[in-house]
Amino acid sequence: MSDRKLYYNGTILTMDDQQPHADFVLTENGVIADVGGKDRLAEYLGSDVERVDLQGRLLLPGFIDSHLHMLTAALNRLKLDVTDMPFDTVDDFLAYVRREKGESGESWISVFGFSEENLGDHRMVERRDIDKYFPDVPVTIIRVCGHMCVVNSQAIARLDADKMAAITGGEFKKDADGAYNGLATEGAQQYVLDNMPTADVELILGYMQKEQEILLRQGITSIHDAGTDMMLPHAYVAVFEEMERRGLLKLRTYLMARPGENEPPEAFDAWMQDLKARYDGTSGRLQIGSVKLFADGSLGSRTAALKQPYQDEPDNMGLLLDERLNRYIVPLAGAGHQVAVHAIGDRSSAFVADLYRRSGCGGETRQRIEHAELLDQELLDTFKAQQILVMTQPIFIREFGNTYFQNLGESRALRIQPIRSMLEQGIVVGFGTDYPVDDPNPLLGIHAAMTREIKNSSRLLNPEEAISFEQAVKCYTLYNAYGAFSEQHTGSLEKGKSADLVILSGITPDADGQIRNVRSGQVDCTVIAGETVYARQA
Ligand SMILES: [Zn+2]
Repeated sequence: MSDRKLYYNGTILTMDDQQPHADFVLTENGVIADVGGKDRLAEYLGSDVERVDLQGRLLLPGFIDSHLHMLTAALNRLKLDVTDMPFDTVDDFLAYVRREKGESGESWISVFGFSEENLGDHRMVERRDIDKYFPDVPVTIIRVCGHMCVVNSQAIARLDADKMAAITGGEFKKDADGAYNGLATEGAQQYVLDNMPTADVELILGYMQKEQEILLRQGITSIHDAGTDMMLPHAYVAVFEEMERRGLLKLRTYLMARPGENEPPEAFDAWMQDLKARYDGTSGRLQIGSVKLFADGSLGSRTAALKQPYQDEPDNMGLLLDERLNRYIVPLAGAGHQVAVHAIGDRSSAFVADLYRRSGCGGETRQRIEHAELLDQELLDTFKAQQILVMTQPIFIREFGNTYFQNLGESRALRIQPIRSMLEQGIVVGFGTDYPVDDPNPLLGIHAAMTREIKNSSRLLNPEEAISFEQAVKCYTLYNAYGAFSEQHTGSLEKGKSADLVILSGITPDADGQIRNVRSGQVDCTVIAGETVYARQA
């Protein structure tokens, strides 16, 4: 029996310039077999196909998020976050932890964000309190400051008594009767953390699948995973390899791997070459990928590297992490690797672009700058000349718009994410969310790019740089595919490409055919390689 599926009777935007609008998409064996207009639709309707009547809904290529951290999100789930949560007493707090984690099966339970300030009686939790609720499993409760934790008796039993006594720069505190009360500061806390087992593989894979479900529900069919600081680079890649090996990876996944702390560039190059040869994304879902590096911090914490000082802080121009960039970019970009550098300030973007230039790499290596929040015309000219891709997160406009005004001042804030200018000048711009930093819902980013709206504010962040729905979707699909060298297979609805698509309800064109409001949009169905990987329950 044929598995031909015919999608028709809706608004179909292909992201293919040759044929931007279509009346049907035909898929077969996981691939798009045909895309066309009304003239040929009747013929297919009369043939042996499974009909998918869109009933006026919107059909798009599957969304691609070009910058998120799926493994970080999964690992965060292993720790219980109690930041800012109020409780009446220590017992109420611990009863909550037992409800959340008591049945988790984890071999060492971890809680973070605790503060006695959030308890009605302001009493610090101690070893014996935790023992009452967790007599059999080790527990670590990290205080909100990050400099102190509290452990129970099971945790202490797994530590080396001599080493505990010998800790310098911090200590395991004791009761009046000389017994450990469970509080561990600085060096003692580090000793605890170093002795906690890295989470069990099965547990991590379970949470990875939950994260994957969350993304599929958003209509996302491909991701570019920007790494994690919660695992060493080889272990990070190994998690995705294991998902791929077991056939659990549904999302097309493009990985960015970072060099280890003191890893020589030649060794990293060899590792990457081997991985790239094994995982090219054509036979499976895993593709490796680019080299991830950091150039600076963030605008919110005033650590992004700027050309001019921060507003009201004349001595602060941010932090440029030039040492690692100098060490890795020239040899690795020069060896043909795509490098993806987190650079938020204008000074860091300029620094990175200059290293790309000095590496002698050509436009075909598709060098990326991640975030590239604050830009100027000089940088745009450089990006254009060197064919540098800008992978940005329009959802940050909504989320951090007010912070930009505060930390950069009025006129400079207007230079944040000049998306329309970049597109008009021929720069490839891809969209992502930095999930779990921000919401993974692509419609929120598309809305932000279309309106430049700021959350909890009536102001807009330079509406001159707003773009249309179709442009925003292109940044979320085709241009992101280009950023992963996969535009031959994904990113648009074109004959021969993979059948990766999304059906959305609640988004309808105005009388002139333009889509202006996406806020009521809902993902009904996500399809990867012809397989329905998410369908909303009616
Ligand atoms: Zn990130």
